[in-house]
Amino acid sequence: MTNAGGIDVGGTKIEATLFDANWQILETRRISTPTDSYNNLLAEILAQYRWLESISNSANTPIGIGVPGIIDRTTGHMIIANLPVAGRNLRDDLIKQVDHPVPVVNDCRAFTLSEAKLGAGRGYSIVQGLILGTGVAGGLAVNSKLIYGKNGAAGEFGHTPIPATLSSKFSLPLSTCGCGQTGCYETLISGPGMVNLAASMFNLTTTPPEIASAAARGDEVTGQIMDIWAEITCALIRSIILVVDPDCIVLGGGLSNIPGIADRLIRQLPIGLLSGVNIPQILLAEGGDSSGVRGAAMVAQNESVNCA
Ligand SMILES: [Zn+2]
Repeated sequence: MTNAGGIDVGGTKIEATLFDANWQILETRRISTPTDSYNNLLAEILAQYRWLESISNSANTPIGIGVPGIIDRTTGHMIIANLPVAGRNLRDDLIKQVDHPVPVVNDCRAFTLSEAKLGAGRGYSIVQGLILGTGVAGGLAVNSKLIYGKNGAAGEFGHTPIPATLSSKFSLPLSTCGCGQTGCYETLISGPGMVNLAASMFNLTTTPPEIASAAARGDEVTGQIMDIWAEITCALIRSIILVVDPDCIVLGGGLSNIPGIADRLIRQLPIGLLSGVNIPQILLAEGGDSSGVRGAAMVAQNESVNCA
């Protein structure tokens, strides 16, 4: 095994990290994400790529790129809402510049691989990643290999609809999602979704950490927000259990790091689960902020090994 590099392209920063053969971080560099044009974005990703090449000790260091959104692995076509890449092919444009295969992978799938191989999911066969952050998405790894699916869309469960039973029970707002659909889980259970829930149902302008801490102190209104949020989120997790039946679910993203959130989900999850079905292990990610970038590097290393 050699060094490997990962580049994580987020909405505000592009992080590049070089890992040693034991997946320890050697160096990290973060730069701002240009959001004004595709060419500027491509140039900055390329700058991070060249930086990783320059500090690695091998000309053939595998380097992978993690991005938000769906990437068709056959064509490289990308569907991404918050980066200026519509109609572009980042993977092929990078390959033209570096003359080397450049795997481009969804950041939530990268997170899942990282956690399955070296994080909270290590030792489990079927690992489901679930990120509750700016968006809601995840990935599926079986025996430490990612399942991408035909469209690269496996894990985009944040864009499935909230059940009518819950919409009716709580008179939930029907919000337009960034994906263009209406009523997706993401509109109410992502970080911005919880903010939306508080504003539209309780006329409260606040943040998820404030909601969680006030609820923990016994505040009634924020307690209700947390209860509703957890009930919707548990409905999604129960659907994932019935579709995938994973051995464990690894939670990531900003909401999962808020004290008490994971415990609340674990407590509420059995309520309404199909009789006789056992709950998988619900675990918190161990890789921290570096899990996504490490997963992108792992994808690159896997693909370079497979090509060899
Ligand atoms: Zn959506």
